[in-house]
Amino acid sequence: MVKARRAIGLMGGTFNPIHYGHLVAAEAALDAFNLDQVIFIPSGQPPHKSGIFVADAEHRYLMTFLAIVSNQRFEMSRVEIDRSGPSYTSDTLSYFDQLDASAAWYFITGADAILDIVSWHNPDSIFRHAQLIAASRPGYSLNRIRALENQLGVKSGERIHPLEVPALAISSSQIRERLKGGLSIKYLVPEAVEHYIVKNAVYAALKA
Ligand code: ATP
Ligand code: MG
Repeated sequence: MVKARRAIGLMGGTFNPIHYGHLVAAEAALDAFNLDQVIFIPSGQPPHKSGIFVADAEHRYLMTFLAIVSNQRFEMSRVEIDRSGPSYTSDTLSYFDQLDASAAWYFITGADAILDIVSWHNPDSIFRHAQLIAASRPGYSLNRIRALENQLGVKSGERIHPLEVPALAISSSQIRERLKGGLSIKYLVPEAVEHYIVKNAVYAALKA
């Protein structure tokens, strides 16, 4: 029997920290596109100049691990954390594509991130190596995808696939704001992630 082509989702992010919005989007992509697995890829340490507090890469790696470990179809990769220099999605997709050229690769983003993609490093290479799944996200419209496809010169629905996910108006920025203000983050992140943050004072610098 010929083995069916494997379909694998890749979910990149700063995961600062990872939250239920990320997990729900990945799970919805698994089902909608019949993926075999989703690999979460925390980004490397971005330069500090943006003024946003980014927790240490190893903390973000472990929080992501705690969030995904119990899901049979979720995996994770250190490829961006271990690579020096900026974390370019095009490099990451080319890395995975070379690892297994026979697999179908799907890069999963939220509606906000997909609209930024033209400004990313080497967008053509991103589209060469993977299909894109654009998950809906409260506050961002998927309607602009058609315009984006025109701008990129790709046929409608050929490379970018919109995906409606159960709306979760959760963001890592909102979680960091809550931690800064001493507010609860219960039910926004998995319990193990919440406990990890408290135990290791991951975001203590925000209060300083
Ligand atoms: P920040 O507020 O710090 O930017 P974030 O919540 O946007 O954090 P990221 O790590 O920047 O999280 O996002 C990684 C990917 O997950 C992006 O493609 C983003 O669009 C997507 N994403 C994040 N939150 C949601 C959500 N609530 N619903 C759907 N997609 C999401
Ligand atoms: Mg974001």
